[in-house]
Amino acid sequence: MSAQSAAPAVSPLLESLVTEITALRPRMEEVSLAVHGRPELKFAEFHARDVLTGWLAEAGFSVTSPVGGLDTAFVAVHAGGRPGPYVAVLAEYDALPGVGHGCGHNLIAAGGAAAAIGAVRALPGHSGTVAVIGTPGEEMGGAGKVRLAEAGVFDGVDAAVMFHPGDRSLTAAHALAAAHLRVAFTGVSAHAAKSPWEGRSALAAAQLFFNALDTMRQFVPPSARIHGIVSDGGQAPNVVPAHAAVDLYVRDRTAASARALVERVRAAAVGAALATETQAELSETGPLYAERRNNTVLAKRFGQAVRALGVDIEPGDQDSPAGSSDIGNLSKLLPVIHPYIQVAPAGTPSHSEAMCAAAATPFAHERTQVAATGLATVVAELLTEPGLLEAARAEFAAGAEVLT
Ligand SMILES: [Zn+2]
Ligand SMILES: [Zn+2]
Repeated sequence: MSAQSAAPAVSPLLESLVTEITALRPRMEEVSLAVHGRPELKFAEFHARDVLTGWLAEAGFSVTSPVGGLDTAFVAVHAGGRPGPYVAVLAEYDALPGVGHGCGHNLIAAGGAAAAIGAVRALPGHSGTVAVIGTPGEEMGGAGKVRLAEAGVFDGVDAAVMFHPGDRSLTAAHALAAAHLRVAFTGVSAHAAKSPWEGRSALAAAQLFFNALDTMRQFVPPSARIHGIVSDGGQAPNVVPAHAAVDLYVRDRTAASARALVERVRAAAVGAALATETQAELSETGPLYAERRNNTVLAKRFGQAVRALGVDIEPGDQDSPAGSSDIGNLSKLLPVIHPYIQVAPAGTPSHSEAMCAAAATPFAHERTQVAATGLATVVAELLTEPGLLEAARAEFAAGAEVLT
């Protein structure tokens, strides 16, 4: 690591966290690569859960899994002997179809566990509680964090921290609200050559629906994203499809704006059905992901630690293109941070084969070590610095977010 080169800015606390997390690095990398090598989709992350909870249990954390009604979720707790804040490090560990760990959640998971273990080792006899909460199903609208919050798993948690790998380092970045939809079209089946006029094609309705969405694009806010796939396009070319389905996400800056767009998308589906004499039914395949509110009091602390370790990091631009995450919903309930650390060359797209490859490199693990040390710093400062949690709470209560 480059900690030595930034020696003047390294506090005694950061120095001891660097020592502990450097010692954890080989295991962190082993865990990360084990998760990376066996990509598991939302809510099927059993191997990842076992690898992570096994490490945390060995490190003295008391592990509960399943929790909140999710088989692959877990809570690993290290309770101090004295009262104090309850700080959770979040671990995501689900992969994507087709591109494996193209979102790099193996690094989030291994780095998050290292951060928590490093923090409790650097603070023997600490006050408060340090936990790792394993939050499965972030991708594909799984909304693992939403489901865990609804089940009470975050009750009593004062602050939650995590990092995300990327092609840039950012202390805080905006994220869009996202609605997860399915439009099912129903028509009438018939022989596609002998008597097609007796059929009504649900696939034709789906095609027209996509055309309607494309026609709409000029008239939605520049921040909106509407994108989808045909998840059911019929069964055979010689049968007029009686059933077709489109899975799509509708995203914009706020939940309210995304919801308003959903109504326009619904109207487009109804219009496509009317034109093709089919029926359209729109449903939500999971909870809406809310826009993210970063807690900048805590994000700044992460940034200070990362800079002291020699990695440049700045706040994101409010107008930068963004994705969505279920941490947005959590950010309405408690102070959270979700900074980014560069693990891949600038311009490497997320959700790509290139990012999947980048998420297994020595460079990615070097940067994950830095991110883990940054998260451990925020955890340790929350436990040891009087007034920090109150300052984070005050910003949370004020509601406004400025990316600083
Ligand atoms: Zn992702
Ligand atoms: Zn991700």
